[in-house]
Amino acid sequence: MPFITHVYNMLHTRSHTSFADGGRLVGRVILGRRPPTASESRMQTPRTADSIDWTAVHREALDILRGFLSIDTSNPPGREAAAARYLGAFLESEGVETRYIETAPQREILYARLAGDGSRRGLMLANHLDVVPPEPRYWSTRPFEPVEQEGRLYGRGALDMKGFAVMQLIALLLARRQGLPLKRDIVFCAVPDEEALGRYGMRWLCEQHPELLEGIEYALNEGGSGSLEFGERPVFQVAVNEKWVCWMRITARGIPGHGGIPSAPGHNPIVRLARAIDRLVTWERPVIMTPETQAWLDRLIAEGFAWWGTTEARLAHAVGVSGGVAAIFTNTLNVTMAQSGVKANVVPGRAIATLDCRLLPGQSRDAWRDEVIARIDDPDVRVEFLDGLDTEAPRAASMDTDFFRTIEAALTDAIPDAVVVPSITVGGTDNRFLRARGIHAYGLMPVVLSNPERIGFHGNDEHITLDHLNSGCELTYDIVKRMCT
Ligand SMILES: [Zn+2]
Repeated sequence: MPFITHVYNMLHTRSHTSFADGGRLVGRVILGRRPPTASESRMQTPRTADSIDWTAVHREALDILRGFLSIDTSNPPGREAAAARYLGAFLESEGVETRYIETAPQREILYARLAGDGSRRGLMLANHLDVVPPEPRYWSTRPFEPVEQEGRLYGRGALDMKGFAVMQLIALLLARRQGLPLKRDIVFCAVPDEEALGRYGMRWLCEQHPELLEGIEYALNEGGSGSLEFGERPVFQVAVNEKWVCWMRITARGIPGHGGIPSAPGHNPIVRLARAIDRLVTWERPVIMTPETQAWLDRLIAEGFAWWGTTEARLAHAVGVSGGVAAIFTNTLNVTMAQSGVKANVVPGRAIATLDCRLLPGQSRDAWRDEVIARIDDPDVRVEFLDGLDTEAPRAASMDTDFFRTIEAALTDAIPDAVVVPSITVGGTDNRFLRARGIHAYGLMPVVLSNPERIGFHGNDEHITLDHLNSGCELTYDIVKRMCT
């Protein structure tokens, strides 16, 4: 019996459901509180006629993920080749056409293809092999020695994004084992270097091997997920676009001197830099609507959510009090690094700060820099972009596609109360390279994350609950099957 069906059956035979575990599977939260609707009752029969032993599949997924998390792919330096070979071995052993493409020493892309009959264009399951470096002293487990505790699997990358990569791998293996009559190719593409701008990963693949992307119509990757942050009903945010990473450096110049003699006004660059930073962080910027956020808001309001967004004044208020809302509706700015000084008794000659700026779709980078300069309003503070950034804005994927509707149908069939909305990723993902090539790449891990899980993204004690890994495998397979057969 599929795991999700099992949970639903269990719920309907229980009069009370405990949510003390932080909402491990969202169905528990919804269905424990009222009688089932007609669509929920449908969930009590298996969704598919597949003869899949889900218990065995769940065990297999856990084993694969455990091994995957044991491979340290901290980027820098990455060294993802071992991870590419590790995942590739599962595909090779079942006869899936698999290749490894070296992008730099010890860095490889895994690219595997399960051929369809060619009547539809391909679906890519895209993921990244690298992880951000952990700070082990703040972890209660060892980041690269995965540990299972109380239904959770801990390890760097459990969520970002080795867990989802395993869900994708399982989906492809099941499609193969079940002998699904595929109308489109399924491509499994695991790349290095996502956490450092993709120069040795997806960007490299797009530039060096565009032929491997030919015939691909859709991609499923990270960038969105389900959450309960809007209320009791789970909201799945499917990313169709993302913000434009525009990191900047601001440099204040001054006049160096003896630390024992008070600096003349304006001579100390640290003071100038502090003033500039203060100007920037107290800067109230307007709410900017984009087609993506308008669709997001309209949908949530239609479903009875987002009372705070029903008028402009309310939305502006929400932006002021919630960083998460602000990130979706404004160009954002954070000071993330600062350097100055050489010695306690020396007034330095300059002071530097780094800004993490992220622009909304449709914004101009040059106009943004002009706004920053005007806001700082100090001719002795230089403002520039860091090297290596994308010079073109991310492009949107269409929200009006069969793939979007298929994802929505799969999610709402599995979790009848779910709301599926298009959204933008506030961080950067590899989807931007795929969208730039005209592929409709969506960001969605089909899991309703709990708050403790969410904190693990780039944080400490990163983990995924086994329930989420299991239901994620089932939903990913369901989406792939619906889309490709
Ligand atoms: Zn990621």
